[in-house]
Amino acid sequence: MLIPREIIEEIVNRTDISDLIGSYVTLKRAGSNMHGLCPFHSEKTPSFTVFSKSNSFYCFGCGSGGDAITFVMKAENLDYPSAVEFLASRAGITIPQDKNELANMGMSRKRVYEMNLAAAKFFRENLFDKSVGFDALNYFVGTRKLSMATVKRFGLGYAPNDFFALTNHMKKLGYTEQELIDGFLCGRSKKGHLYDYFRNRVIFPIIDVTGNIIGFGGRVMDDSKPKYLNTSDTPGFKKSKNLFALNYAKNHCSEQLILCEGYMDVIALHAAGFENAVATLGTALTQEQARMMTKYTKKVVLLYDSDDAGQRATDRAIKILSEVGMDVRILKLNGAKDPDEYIKKFGADRFRALLGESRTGFDFKVSRALANLDLQIPDEKIKASAAICEIIADSASGVEREVFLTKASELLKLPIDVLRNNVEHIIRKRKNEQKKDESRQAQMSIRNIGDRINPDAVKFVGANALEETILGLLLIYEEYRAAVTKGSVSLVADDFVTAFGKKVFSTLFEVYNSSDEFLPAMLGQYFTADEMGRLEKMRQSRLSLTENGRDVLDASIAALKAEKEKKLSAEGGDKFATLRAKQEKLKNQRK
Ligand SMILES: [Zn+2]
Repeated sequence: MLIPREIIEEIVNRTDISDLIGSYVTLKRAGSNMHGLCPFHSEKTPSFTVFSKSNSFYCFGCGSGGDAITFVMKAENLDYPSAVEFLASRAGITIPQDKNELANMGMSRKRVYEMNLAAAKFFRENLFDKSVGFDALNYFVGTRKLSMATVKRFGLGYAPNDFFALTNHMKKLGYTEQELIDGFLCGRSKKGHLYDYFRNRVIFPIIDVTGNIIGFGGRVMDDSKPKYLNTSDTPGFKKSKNLFALNYAKNHCSEQLILCEGYMDVIALHAAGFENAVATLGTALTQEQARMMTKYTKKVVLLYDSDDAGQRATDRAIKILSEVGMDVRILKLNGAKDPDEYIKKFGADRFRALLGESRTGFDFKVSRALANLDLQIPDEKIKASAAICEIIADSASGVEREVFLTKASELLKLPIDVLRNNVEHIIRKRKNEQKKDESRQAQMSIRNIGDRINPDAVKFVGANALEETILGLLLIYEEYRAAVTKGSVSLVADDFVTAFGKKVFSTLFEVYNSSDEFLPAMLGQYFTADEMGRLEKMRQSRLSLTENGRDVLDASIAALKAEKEKKLSAEGGDKFATLRAKQEKLKNQRK
């Protein structure tokens, strides 16, 4: 079932798109438009534009584009109905929760949160029930030495060693099987019955910054595998967009955030008074998480395990955090495998002192690059300086590079000019490679190679260009849409050559003819967010031109029809097509 047009219209009208997008991206005004760095691909110069006039956005780098709803679909990773719901609640609009509608819209976030809260209560009751949760409570309080206050503060719990305990409990509370599966609390067995997803695990509720329980992490208490089990992405939960304990840390992190690997690390740190600790949710740090952190702080201290996997994760995190302009520090623990153990062994004060000594990403990388090299041996010194110059070249700031160069020159006992030349050479080389890459990509997009949205565009380059012109005009101008419906412009779906063009045309007129007033945002129900980007490209390429008159439309349609005939006759001597081509020719001669 479709969302009523009135609702979409109200949401679109009440949402100021630059305000919406501005809460995700820093936008700078340029004339009537706004520019910023695209949130959907990695870039250094802004190619992302918000058009206030058309209430839309488009990225000239990656082709993302559309209206406010499309933006939320992409930015929040939601489907159309959930994105509508997201914007509705942002704008204070209530969507009629008619039963039929609900069934078709999937589970609302509100319902997921309610369900999770009920499940969290169940887990907590089991933790404190001595006959069920004795070992689990002992794990938290005895083994991990957490105080009862900390256990309660983090809402910790226990999932009993039982396949049906939670399932039965939640069903009694009125949650349906589908809801329990959608919310990732239950799985369905091959035989078709429901079973508890978390069993015999201590439970860490994951709470978002507004206080909703959005999911759970479950950890075994022994060495069995998997060590951690996490809620998969659900209607209310995207792992890549949340951080464990940020709900608490957000109030204590104006100076810096501490990013660790596991839930227990975070809890141990909070318990020791470091309430600015957070962790990713069983996944590597994502760009979304890095951007989210910039809302709260300017500095992040990385505190990952010192094993190989931890080191790789550190490198990756340094890169991602630096890209969003974060000051990144790395902390290395000596004599303990994780912060929990460190604080137990050496105390909170020593940890605090250590925090003050956290190294910059530069120092950390340099010391690692030098780890197995002896600077007294000429060959190894050359290797070391090459490695360090590569590291310096990573920095985008000229001032920062000069600071690093001074340090490197002292360390390597080499003249700073020599090193500077080296670094500049590396930067030039990288730029050239990047340019080559970009021009290759541009070439590919010109030829539409790898066009996933419109695969036919490669084969029918000319026809595709005409289709984009025609559809661009039809998407913008009411008078042209009316002319097609009335038949004063002769154009039907079968005139289109590419399957995508045909789909856009049919859908556009289906929506147009079924409502009193056409609203481009309604097309989002029929197209993916990426396809909506293509529609936006069609609109914007026409809007950037001054010649959009009826003659442009007529000429393009005539040319497209000719392309279609060409295609048909090329398709193995289609007699019917040839015949039609002849008739057409005759008709034209008679005119
Ligand atoms: Zn982009």
